[in-house]
Amino acid sequence: MSVRKLALVTGSTSGIGLAIADVFAANGIEVILHGIESTEDGQAIAARFEHSYGQRPHYFQCDISQPEAIEQMMQCIGQEVGAPSILVNNAGIQFTAPVQEFPAGTWDKIIAINLSAAFHTTRLALPAMVAAGWGRIINISSVHGLVASVHKAAYCAAKHGLVGFTRVTALETAAQGITANCICPGWTDTPLLVDQLTQFAAEHNTSFDEAKKGLINAKAPYPEFVAPSEIGELALFLCSDAARAMTGTALPIDGGWTAH
Ligand code: NAD
Repeated sequence: MSVRKLALVTGSTSGIGLAIADVFAANGIEVILHGIESTEDGQAIAARFEHSYGQRPHYFQCDISQPEAIEQMMQCIGQEVGAPSILVNNAGIQFTAPVQEFPAGTWDKIIAINLSAAFHTTRLALPAMVAAGWGRIINISSVHGLVASVHKAAYCAAKHGLVGFTRVTALETAAQGITANCICPGWTDTPLLVDQLTQFAAEHNTSFDEAKKGLINAKAPYPEFVAPSEIGELALFLCSDAARAMTGTALPIDGGWTAH
């Protein structure tokens, strides 16, 4: 029996999620786009996909900090497109501050978007995967799911939590043709880093480009940012039959950051 490879990639209007969607579409996987951005912005990306890959993905705008909105979106996806056999939980935000200054509301938001949303999409997507006897769940964690950095309390808590959640999902689904894995990127060239780069440039009285080098030098021996498309290629591999026995992993793609 051949399974329809239909991938919901959360946060696929930008950065890593968009790159994963691009790599999937270029390799014949049907994609469902999602983001917080307007329907108009989403449709513009869908039109580009149609031009480049001959498939026009559906776009769903949904604030995934809201569990009820996720439930509604997953229901609409089931009705309008079909049940995703691949789920990439990628949407995420960042904020940096020392613990004692960290705004409580921002903590809640980061936990909701970077961690709890993955629980909600997974619990809602799993029944169809179990029924089909095939599924791939890929959670975009971070090096900060494996190690800590100062001023990233909520982000590190969410990303470590995502690794734990992924392992439990893997244990519960391993005998059902489903895998669940985390990808743990290091510095990756996306809009998520703009605030950190701006802050670094201001603190060190240097340019944006020098700030990029500064961030890398502070953490990773490999002297460049990870390219979002490289994370897309790793996600594609996890969707292949060759990766059917890989489950419960947390795979760093971090320029050697966590080898220290
Ligand atoms: P990005 O800012 O380029 O994209 C973030 C995406 O998340 C967008 O598509 C946006 O629509 C979506 N999003 C944000 N808030 C949302 C909300 N409330 N509801 C729905 N969607 C929302 O960021 P990115 O760097 O591509 O990050 C993608 C993932 O990769 C995140 O989980 C991030 O933590 C992780 N990551 C990034 C890096 C890095 O260096 N850029 C490193 C490790 C892990």
